[in-house]
Amino acid sequence: MQSTMQDVELTVSRILAHGTTVHGRSEVITWTGEGAPERRTFAEVGRRAAQLAHALRDDLGVRGDDRVATLMWNNSAHVEAYFAIPSMGAVLHTLNLRLPAEQLAWIVNHAADKVVLVNGTLLPLLAPLLPQLPTVEHIVVSGPGDLSLLDGAGAQVHEYEALLAGKPESYDWPRLDERQAAAMCYTSGTTGDPKGVVYSHRSIYLHSMQVNMSQSMALTDSDTSLVVVPQFHVNAWGIPHATFMTGVNMLMPDRFLQPAPLAEMIETVRPTHAAAVPTIWQGLLAELKARPRDVSTLTQVTIGGAACPPALMKSFDEFGMRVVHAWGMTETSPLGTVARPPAHVAPGSEEEFAYRTTQGRFPAGVEARLTGPNGERLPWDGESAGELEVRGPWIAGAYYNGPDGAPLRPDDKFSEDGWLKTGDVGVIDPDGFLTLTDRAKDVIKSGGEWISSVELENALMGHPQVAEAAVVAVPDDKWGERPLAAVVLEEGAETGFDELREFLGAEGGIAKWQLPERWTRVAAVPKTSVGKFDKKVIRRQYAEGELD
Ligand code: ADP
Repeated sequence: MQSTMQDVELTVSRILAHGTTVHGRSEVITWTGEGAPERRTFAEVGRRAAQLAHALRDDLGVRGDDRVATLMWNNSAHVEAYFAIPSMGAVLHTLNLRLPAEQLAWIVNHAADKVVLVNGTLLPLLAPLLPQLPTVEHIVVSGPGDLSLLDGAGAQVHEYEALLAGKPESYDWPRLDERQAAAMCYTSGTTGDPKGVVYSHRSIYLHSMQVNMSQSMALTDSDTSLVVVPQFHVNAWGIPHATFMTGVNMLMPDRFLQPAPLAEMIETVRPTHAAAVPTIWQGLLAELKARPRDVSTLTQVTIGGAACPPALMKSFDEFGMRVVHAWGMTETSPLGTVARPPAHVAPGSEEEFAYRTTQGRFPAGVEARLTGPNGERLPWDGESAGELEVRGPWIAGAYYNGPDGAPLRPDDKFSEDGWLKTGDVGVIDPDGFLTLTDRAKDVIKSGGEWISSVELENALMGHPQVAEAAVVAVPDDKWGERPLAAVVLEEGAETGFDELREFLGAEGGIAKWQLPERWTRVAAVPKTSVGKFDKKVIRRQYAEGELD
């Protein structure tokens, strides 16, 4: 029997239409570094998105599923692009501005981007690449910058505001198939070439609803979210789309991502929520300790992208900010799990804290299973550790085209029955809470036993004189691999490695055979293009004898 329901496509243009009307007064607030921040209502963003779509179609000839890339910070023009490009039927391709130049060029060419929208401040990054980007026909520059850098560029250069000026403020958004491509994002390519994940209108719509659920971010139109997670990092975790559904105001930091301006914008604009990877917060909390500010409005902080050390969560508690830990990947849109403790635990109890430090619970829409080393299914008993595999309407089933033009489904990324192999190793408890012990490639395999690098890092970062710590596997004649701890000490700290080793055993509860015997003091832990610990760099530095 057929249902009697209407068949309405779940598209980005519907999110836009809702946000610009029902939540038309909500605002995108962009930090400008001087004077008052720029404020645009959702209604205004919608009008400008319509103007941008007209310009892209009529002046720049964007048609069909042409790719329109952005090389931009988090700001209102970037939000306009987020809605205009998919709503007109084209594909938004967010470029990671922290990637090495050759990877960036590889990605633009692989996606065959036709237009690049770029912030003027990023022209020094884009301009030298242009000779290697034959598919790029148009460059649209938003915000201040040195346009002369583009002299002699093969592509046509346009100024964003001039392009929008005089264009109609509404657009007859076409009817689209909800399964067609809306946006794409490349994984950072820590191993091999970067891989393109292509989101559909439907996946974005459903993911946005999930982000908004009370067991996820749970925000409303009385909230303001400080979106530190870049718009090029998995669509800023879906926040721009989700906020247009619920009217949450967005505070966009643009290029002002250093601790001092972040603290200043929190005090001035008074957001209630913020989202970012763990490493960004270490600096901010240190800044707040050194120069106290009124950050009392900020009560909820979503942290994901890498394991949030429990010690960091406790530091947040001191400021009255509650960390909500979440796990996800580029391939999962990214929301995979969110750590909101279950109702049966007492608020403020140790048990509750333990739940908060897990990666979280699977929402409806993300099915999960654990696979053991021989392909066997493992139970959700909180003890059996295996590789996490997931499936769902906002989970990738393939990557964007391989050399033959067909979608890529590498065996190490997708199971035979189509589930995504996450490469993350962990356990799931009977209530569906996921605890990750490591990435498969970071686990330390010592004499046939596994040592979790994350467990060692978390324990180390619990030491008051340790600012950051990364643990990697290094080759060992006797055991195959052993842990090497790379430690950043707080300024002026004099703690020795013996003391840290002892601390790991006594306070950190680490078994004796897991304690690292190799240690090195570093000035900073190297970070990836999205701000995570870059362990492959540490492994290489060790192999090349660059570490003490
Ligand atoms: P990259 O591979 O470049 O880091 P992603 O941003 O897609 O790209 O990273 C996804 C990976 O980040 C996950 O597979 C997982 O290993 C890690 N990750 C994300 N969130 C968490 C978390 N809360 N705890 C531990 N690891 C996490």
